Amino acid sequence: MTREQVLALFESIKRGRTRGGGRALNKPLLLLHALARFADGDERLRFTEIEDAVKRLLIDFGPADGPYHVSYPFWRLQNDGLWVVENADAVEENASGDPRSLVALRELDPVGRFTDEVADALRTDPSLVGELMDGILADEFPSEAYDDEVRTAIGFDRDPPSDVILTRRRRRDPTFRKRVLDAYEHRCAVCGFSAMVGDAHIGLDAAHVKWHQYGGPDEVPNGLALCALHHRLLDRGAFTVTASGSRERVVEVSERARGNEGFQQWMLAYHGQPLSEPVRTEYRVSEPATVWHQKQVFKGLPRT
Ligand SMILES: [Zn+2]
Repeated sequence: MTREQVLALFESIKRGRTRGGGRALNKPLLLLHALARFADGDERLRFTEIEDAVKRLLIDFGPADGPYHVSYPFWRLQNDGLWVVENADAVEENASGDPRSLVALRELDPVGRFTDEVADALRTDPSLVGELMDGILADEFPSEAYDDEVRTAIGFDRDPPSDVILTRRRRRDPTFRKRVLDAYEHRCAVCGFSAMVGDAHIGLDAAHVKWHQYGGPDEVPNGLALCALHHRLLDRGAFTVTASGSRERVVEVSERARGNEGFQQWMLAYHGQPLSEPVRTEYRVSEPATVWHQKQVFKGLPRT
């Protein structure tokens, strides 16, 4: 199999999307884990090892609520032409073609691995592993800072990332950033942070509330001017924004987020507080964008 064929095969996998625009990260996270292990020389992975690792990744980086069924991607990836489960005949299937019993699957603990053709291609061209991972990261996650956290979690630190990341992420509208920052007068909508060196604004981002990867538009009502810290906390679901019609937008901090005095000062102090108002009320974050973020990114329940 050529490099291009392998790239196309990974592209063709139905992954990361549910019909309602939700995040379905089972396959992407399993593939990231398997690619990282492959790069370490572990080409044959037991189901229970994958289950533990991918479940942890889903809890950290997936939508807030489980249940997390790692047996589905482990089994269903066989239909995508790049993954085999050894001894698959010994696994009993149910009517929908999934393993009938999780207990039995754990007991049998079969090996999953890339097909021989894919494995050969990955061995022949070691840069392919990183490129495939970058493709998945760029498709699923909102920022390079987020990629780094995922890479660290799967134990695959690498530098620099391929330009796959950059070219894919650059597809967004280049004026989005300016329009969002102008709408909030170049201040963080949560904490008001603003800094300049010479004429350049530093440490301020235009964050997508509904991620670009999931169809979030490059429009001001889907954006927020946030300092680098609040951008990362928003993307990791430490806080969310609630919107209700014409009322101001409010910060809600997750009950699962915690930290030291800095966290108290820079995050908890804003719980229940309104965001700064943009220069026009129609620029406020839209309700559909906040609802998506609450469901797909926010971790757990708001504090009371
Ligand atoms: Zn801030």
